[in-house]
Amino acid sequence: MPPDVDLIPCLADNYAVLLHDPASGATLLVDAPEEAPIAAALDRRGWTLTHILITHHHGDHVGGLKALKARSGATVIGPAAEASRIDGLDRTVADGDRFDAGPWPVQVIATPGHTLGHVAYHLPTAGVAFTGDTLFSLGCGRVFEGTLEAMWGSLDRLRALPQETVVYCGHEYTASNARFALSVDPANEALRARAAEVEALRAAGRPTLPTTIAAELAANPFLRADDPALAAVVGLPPGDPAAVFAALRRRKDAA
Ligand SMILES: [Zn+2]
Repeated sequence: MPPDVDLIPCLADNYAVLLHDPASGATLLVDAPEEAPIAAALDRRGWTLTHILITHHHGDHVGGLKALKARSGATVIGPAAEASRIDGLDRTVADGDRFDAGPWPVQVIATPGHTLGHVAYHLPTAGVAFTGDTLFSLGCGRVFEGTLEAMWGSLDRLRALPQETVVYCGHEYTASNARFALSVDPANEALRARAAEVEALRAAGRPTLPTTIAAELAANPFLRADDPALAAVVGLPPGDPAAVFAALRRRKDAA
């Protein structure tokens, strides 16, 4: 049975996600930007946290962690490489680790670039992945700590997940990502359709997430760095997607 999901807007443009399994009562939170809206969602649903998964150490992903852990006694899991920068981890994980969170097996994918120790979580039986600030809808995270090449490697691994995987990202950046994406890939019909959908969703005050790997493969220029058309846009020959990715990311940083 698919889990119940609650996508919770936090702070200015962050998201936290709750997954709940009615049979066991297991309730998993991915990232903890702030306590109040997450606690309100838990109270409204009548759920009690059992697991908290953290993608990376930035304050807008862990600001509510201490309080939410204290309220629930949930087990907190996060990247070993950032353990010294995240207070309250009960268990650390690294690339390739598998563990169970309630009824869901979880696979850990190291996705360095935005931060050095950033991880994504893939729950194959639930059909979902949590990509934090690595993959966004129509975009990707800024590269603060790692190299552009490492970030491309991280995105390349995420795009290899099953295409039907439902993807939750750390921020509602899709509308601004769509503007940049259209500037480099204006003839892409899937992108144009997605951009129109995003505009309508935001006008209605609704989230643009989740997305899917298939939708991002079709429309997200940062996942399409091996497309010769995008290589041409940044003035590079085809065949070096890492270089095309780096040029696209630099261009967006300067936009
Ligand atoms: Zn971040």
